[in-house]
Amino acid sequence: MRSNAHFGGLLKPVPQEAFSAWLARGLRTRNPAPFIRATDCLKRLCVEDADGNLTRAVTEELSMALGISNECLRRSFPLPGDWLKAPPERRLQFCQFCLLNDFRCGRQPSLRINWFYWWFNVCPVHGCCLYIGDSTSAPAELLSIVQFDLPWRFFTHGAFQSTEQCWSYRCSTRQILTLMAWHFQCWYQVCVQRGTVTIGDVELAASVPEIELLMDDILAIIGKKRIYPFDPRSQIAWLLNIKACCSLRSNLPPEAGCEAFLCKDVGEHSAQIRMAMFALLGLFLKLPNCVCMWRLSGVPIYDNNIERFWRSMHSDAVRMPSYLDWLKERADGWSAPIRAHFRYLLES
Ligand SMILES: [Zn+2]
Repeated sequence: MRSNAHFGGLLKPVPQEAFSAWLARGLRTRNPAPFIRATDCLKRLCVEDADGNLTRAVTEELSMALGISNECLRRSFPLPGDWLKAPPERRLQFCQFCLLNDFRCGRQPSLRINWFYWWFNVCPVHGCCLYIGDSTSAPAELLSIVQFDLPWRFFTHGAFQSTEQCWSYRCSTRQILTLMAWHFQCWYQVCVQRGTVTIGDVELAASVPEIELLMDDILAIIGKKRIYPFDPRSQIAWLLNIKACCSLRSNLPPEAGCEAFLCKDVGEHSAQIRMAMFALLGLFLKLPNCVCMWRLSGVPIYDNNIERFWRSMHSDAVRMPSYLDWLKERADGWSAPIRAHFRYLLES
């Protein structure tokens, strides 16, 4: 642990703490002056999102206001990319246990930067799915948890079981998907940190934005909406054992074509469904850890044949043109290495 001396005498950030959340905590300390100066500086420079990509000029002014070096400021609050970041008013995802832990440690509950991204669904500390709250404020959310949704039972039992302890029992499909979603987000974070895309031992000659383009298209199909009772129940609903009428529902007629049903905003789905979407994305990309989890799970689906599972994913709801036709058209915009590596996704 760094001492306060290493942070210019200011409040020490919690690991992965969002910059805005740290500022908000700082305003309530006994030395609020630097935090007031930094907040005023953001206002003066019309910075709407303190957790966005700040320009060098802005971080220079902020570091002067806070009395710490520009370098220290940048290193302490790194952003995990730009892909699928929720706008400020929709940053409602929390790990309840992290908030409770903040409280237990005697500090104001605080937001972690990763919670602002739709691809981040599983808390790496507690192993649980993130929860969607009603407020973008961590203290307000903790109050609501304590008042209405007290998860003490889980807090004292399930949440702190190690992965090994989990494995000594049979995992449910939901747990398997949660682990797959966690593997996906670990893989994606490594891609962003290294600036390369590696699947198994194959390093693709593709950039991270190029794979993000492909992943947007795959997610659009995985998260597509359905018409009930016209379409069959979705695989995600089946896997999670949830009723069909969920966020995957649409009231449009089938003649509306496939485009209208695609999921263009991952954030419109519930936390559970989104977690499953990213677990399956990891499977369809054939990330080794996701494939391994899936094979170990014993879920009786498509004889562990990922290509067949993918085919059923895009062809179970009939539209004209088909989802596969749409994907083939989109594939024209993918880079050549991506198209070559993922050609199995385009086979009918
Ligand atoms: Zn947590």
